[in-house]
Amino acid sequence: MDQQQYFQFYEGSKMGIKTADGQIIIPAVYDFVAIPADDLFTVTEGGYTAYFNTDGDVVLSFSNLYESYGNFTEGLARVMRNGKWGFINREGEEVITPRFYFADEFAEGRSIVRNENDLHGAIDTQGNLVIDYQYPVLTGFVKGYAKFGDLKTWGLIDATGNIVVPQIYMSIGQVYRNKVTVQVLEGEEYKEGELTIGGGVGWNNNLDHVNAFNRQKTQFADAAEQLIDTMYRNGCPCEYERFRDYIQWNSPVGFVDQEILFSAFVKKLHNEGDNNFRCTHCGTVYEQNWEQYSAFMWVLNVTIKTTGKFKNKGAPVAEYRPVALGFYGHVIEKYTNKYLQHDIETVINYLKQP
Ligand SMILES: [Zn+2]
Repeated sequence: MDQQQYFQFYEGSKMGIKTADGQIIIPAVYDFVAIPADDLFTVTEGGYTAYFNTDGDVVLSFSNLYESYGNFTEGLARVMRNGKWGFINREGEEVITPRFYFADEFAEGRSIVRNENDLHGAIDTQGNLVIDYQYPVLTGFVKGYAKFGDLKTWGLIDATGNIVVPQIYMSIGQVYRNKVTVQVLEGEEYKEGELTIGGGVGWNNNLDHVNAFNRQKTQFADAAEQLIDTMYRNGCPCEYERFRDYIQWNSPVGFVDQEILFSAFVKKLHNEGDNNFRCTHCGTVYEQNWEQYSAFMWVLNVTIKTTGKFKNKGAPVAEYRPVALGFYGHVIEKYTNKYLQHDIETVINYLKQP
């Protein structure tokens, strides 16, 4: 598209195109109008597709010759016939015969295509397969490079298909001035660095805090498992008021210590179904609910549904509970008046205090 900005607008359920200063390029009488990278609008109406230029004139008239029509990029639009994708040019001529199981829009002279075995390669604007079908995942080209991989590890190829970064990284950013941020998992440790294409990686310590936290979580899980084993040797954890208080959580904020403690505890409980878990020693039933708080955040809520038969043998709940791993979420301040940051040992000793 040229410098002018274009906007879709509606009248009723119909769509058209306007400029920023309100000039109507395409009246709102169509089902859908797309604004692609090239200067041709894709206009659909009643199962037919046409292409209009920026003066609002029809360049390719309405047609349903193909089952599907894409947007023009780099002078070509993808079209589907008999379930296979090919390309037409701005004159409407079929310049790449539909034969691909999938073909993406052209970018940087390449279209990512897929074969019947779900492997991806790339074609040039003549339709030649310039990168052979070999990748489970292949992204479009940006600044001369495309990411390939299997969703677990990624590498980079150039426009001729040469591997310029091997497929060993769990994450690869956007190439900028021949450099790109990469992340790798070595054993249980994450590492981040800046890779120079054709050169080495300069590692940084950006992920050290993630590794430290993960190590602490593993330590807490081990300690929680030992604590629960010890408590079961002479009864059960339910007998400890502090344990019951700590494990019960019903809040939008995540509580890492509680989540790890209950994850260790639930392995010892009998699954009654419906998210209910029963202590076979005393009969206490715990209800577990993972609740989605936001797009990326789930919170483990636990309540005691039925209190079993036991005698309290632990110390009463303290005014301030120790917490080793803390909380995550948005209203954490609310909990700081009941919890104090300590190490793992302090948390475990607090819970088992007679
Ligand atoms: Zn119990």
